[in-house]
Amino acid sequence: MTRDASMSALQMRGLESLVVTRLPIPSPSPHDVLIRTAAATICTSDLHDLARNPFGISLPRVLGHEAAGVVVQCGAEVHALPPGTRVGVHPVVPCGDCEECRRGLGHLCSRMGHLGLDRDGAFAEFFVQRADRVRALPPEVPDALGALLEPVCVCLQAVARAGDVRGRDVLVAGDGPFGNLIARLAARAGAQSVRVVGRESFRLARLRHATPTTTAAPRSADVAILAVSSAAAAAECLTALRPRGRLVIFSALADATPLELFPVHVRELEIVGACNDEDRLDEALSCLRDSTLVLAELITHQLPFEQWQEAFHLARHGHDRALKVALTFPVAQPS
Ligand SMILES: [Zn+2]
Ligand SMILES: [Zn+2]
Repeated sequence: MTRDASMSALQMRGLESLVVTRLPIPSPSPHDVLIRTAAATICTSDLHDLARNPFGISLPRVLGHEAAGVVVQCGAEVHALPPGTRVGVHPVVPCGDCEECRRGLGHLCSRMGHLGLDRDGAFAEFFVQRADRVRALPPEVPDALGALLEPVCVCLQAVARAGDVRGRDVLVAGDGPFGNLIARLAARAGAQSVRVVGRESFRLARLRHATPTTTAAPRSADVAILAVSSAAAAAECLTALRPRGRLVIFSALADATPLELFPVHVRELEIVGACNDEDRLDEALSCLRDSTLVLAELITHQLPFEQWQEAFHLARHGHDRALKVALTFPVAQPS
C-alpha cells in the first residue's frame, strides 16, 4: 500500500451535516490493525449523534461503529490477525488503567475510546481499531452480518442484565433492530415466553421466537427490556412487571423521564441499566453463526457507500420497510 494514499470517508461536520470527503488512510499504532471496510451498519446512535450530538463528539468526525472488513496492515505488536483476515470489530476501547478497568469493568471505562466518537469510525474505506477489540470472522458469517458483532454484544448484555431469564416471561418494548435482536437472544437464553411491544406491522412481522403485541398487560412479565427511546414505553414496562420483576433500561432516553416509583416500592421491582457489554465478543460470534437465530435477516438493506444518503434516509424514516441498513464497500486496492 502506498503510504500517503487517501480514502473516501463520510464525515459529520455539524448537526444533520454529513459530507463525503477525502482523508488520508490512517496508519495503525503498534497495537492496532488497519481494516479495509467491507460493510458498516447504521445504528440508532449514529442518528442520535447527527440529530443532537448527545456525547459531544468533537467535529469533524467520521461516524460508524458497527463494521466488518479485511485486515490490511498490522501494528508492530500485532501478530494474531495477519493481513487478509476477515474481521468484525467492537468499537469500544477500554483504557485498561482507570479505576473501572482495574476492577474488571472495562465496558464502564472512564476514559473509554470509541470508534466514531473520540476517533474516526467505519463509514470510510479504511479505519483502525485496537487488535484486542477485533475478531476473525468464520467463513459462514458474511460481511454485513459480521458488522452486527457489536450490536449482538450489547444485546447479550441487555439480556444478561435481566438476570437468569430461564423459564421466565420476558417483555421487550420496541420492535426496531435492537428489540428484535434482544427478543431472539432472550429466547436463546431460555425465556419461557418473549413478547415484543411495537407499532410497525412490518417490524412485528419480522420477529422470531417471540410474540408480537401492541400493548403489554399489567403484571404479565418477570422481566421487561426497554429497547425504544420512549418514556411512555418505560412506564408501560414498569406496569407490566410482576412483583420482584426487573426493568432493563437499554435504550437512551434523551430527556429526564418521569416514572411512577410507588410500584417499585410496593412490588419490590428493580431497574437496571445496560449500554455497553462486558467482553461478549466470542459469545456474539457464536450467535452470528447460530442458524436458529437467523440474524442475517435483520439486515433488510445493503447499499453501496455512494448511496449513503438513501441508506441514512431508510434507517431514519423506513420503519415500515427496514430494520438494519448496511453500507457496503467495493473490494478494491487503495488508490
Ligand atoms: Zn451501535
Ligand atoms: Zn479505563
